[in-house]
Amino acid sequence: MLIMAGSNEQSDKQTINHWAAGAEFAGTSGRFGDVTDPATGAVTAQVAFASEQDADQVIAAAAKAFPAWRDTSLTKRVQVLFRFRELLNQRSGEVAEIITSEHGKVLSDAAGEVSRGQEVVEFACGIPHLIKGSFTENASTGVDVHSVRQPLGVVGIISPFNFPIMVPLWFTPIAIAAGNAVVLKPSEKDPGAALWMARLWKEAGLPDGVFNVLNGDKTAVDALLGHNQVKSISFVGSTPIARYVYETATANGKRVQALGGAKNHMVVLPDADLDLAADQAVNAGYGSAGERCMAISAVVAVGTIGDELVAKIKERTEKLKIGDGRRDSDMGPVVTKQAQDKITGYIGAGQEAGATLIVDGRDVTPDSDGDGFFVGPTLFDHVGREMSIYTDEIFGPVLSVVRVETYEEAIDLINKNPYGNGTAIFTNDGGAARRFQNEIEVGMIGINVPIPVPMAYYSFGGWKSSLFGDTHAHGVEGVHFFTRGKVITSRWLDPSHGGINLGFPQNS
Ligand code: NAD
Repeated sequence: MLIMAGSNEQSDKQTINHWAAGAEFAGTSGRFGDVTDPATGAVTAQVAFASEQDADQVIAAAAKAFPAWRDTSLTKRVQVLFRFRELLNQRSGEVAEIITSEHGKVLSDAAGEVSRGQEVVEFACGIPHLIKGSFTENASTGVDVHSVRQPLGVVGIISPFNFPIMVPLWFTPIAIAAGNAVVLKPSEKDPGAALWMARLWKEAGLPDGVFNVLNGDKTAVDALLGHNQVKSISFVGSTPIARYVYETATANGKRVQALGGAKNHMVVLPDADLDLAADQAVNAGYGSAGERCMAISAVVAVGTIGDELVAKIKERTEKLKIGDGRRDSDMGPVVTKQAQDKITGYIGAGQEAGATLIVDGRDVTPDSDGDGFFVGPTLFDHVGREMSIYTDEIFGPVLSVVRVETYEEAIDLINKNPYGNGTAIFTNDGGAARRFQNEIEVGMIGINVPIPVPMAYYSFGGWKSSLFGDTHAHGVEGVHFFTRGKVITSRWLDPSHGGINLGFPQNS
């Protein structure tokens, strides 16, 4: 393991502490959680779980650092961002290894998430341009108007287990570049990447206290949601927690963006290239063991292509190598034993509900040592829209094929689904694709692209139960989220000031 860690009196395991004011901070709660290697099932470290008092100290470190960072010139702030970008570029392999050892995804996939996060760092390097205000000379006679955008203060970021570095990087570089101080609460399941990132920010020259890590569970989250010095919350995780975070933090007067869960459909029209569609269903359904918020979990086969498409997907699943992500595997384990049990429970429920089980991931023999949390690729056909394998976000390598007769039925299925994160259509008919992008009630759409994650200069976010709040992550929306607008109207005195006038200011 590459993270440096302190000692833990509770056991001989390494401890992953908090990070405040530029150094590790152990906290005083005496509570810890296990961090496991999902490929072997071994407990590899313990992560400190913050108490409310620990949270107060981490937030206080951020609050103390904020004024000086806010007043640091844009030129100097951007130099830190550029240095961070260079370090990330040179050392991405280190953090990919940490991610694989705690999350389980294969190394190439972990490296991929680092590079998608790095895109946001590169976008944030352009903050001087992004944050520019406007100026109007002589808006009224002798009166000028200009606008500026200013940072919020201490901002809280709460991230899920499935992208331990990419999701924090959706927000952190923009928040920092805009002059805020950050408290990141990573997932307790794989907190190592956040501590690694804290050291990298320090090495890049970021002043102590501008980036902090608060580890823990609900206690840590609630402390952030309730603290009056935390001005905004950026949350990514499951829908019930996203809703809770949104409702609680907005009730406490904070600005909130809370990205939730997903059930992403891939529509395959009869004219599509079925080999391409099958390849992409396998990539997007089973990549990262289905633990992606943009994973495809429902393939909607339109017309009579169902048998051929299912056969092509099945054939491809048989070639996948399942095992330890540090070996030559295509797909690693799922994150925890609980996740494994939940996913295999859904496979049983799908069978009982009458769906046709084409490939059963419970039978997998992984290339791994120890007792890892593996579920192989699983494929169901003839899935009904009332079955739990269709209605619920399983968050595992389980692909459901739903058969419909018409394009309209496919649209109806997706638009009636409570989630609206991502979707894709596979077709060679430009008119159908154009109609789909217009009619579908989903935030991110792929046309012959299965995982349409927007580039950093666009914004990432779903609709309906996949997002609470109205601001998506990164891109211009991210810059707006982490800044407040001000408009200044000014008149420099000339010899003819107008005297007293109690009327509402009007233009002249
Ligand atoms: P999760 O909701 O369990 O946890 C997310 C964060 O909330 C973690 O930091 C966790 O410690 C905290 N948390 C958990 N329970 C809490 C509680 N009761 N009160 C307060 N805080 C709590 O999500 P997860 O399992 O870590 O991640 C997977 C989920 O995230 C999936 O639903 C996936 O779709 C979603 N996700 C969504 C996006 C998106 O962009 N919409 C991206 C990635 C993941």
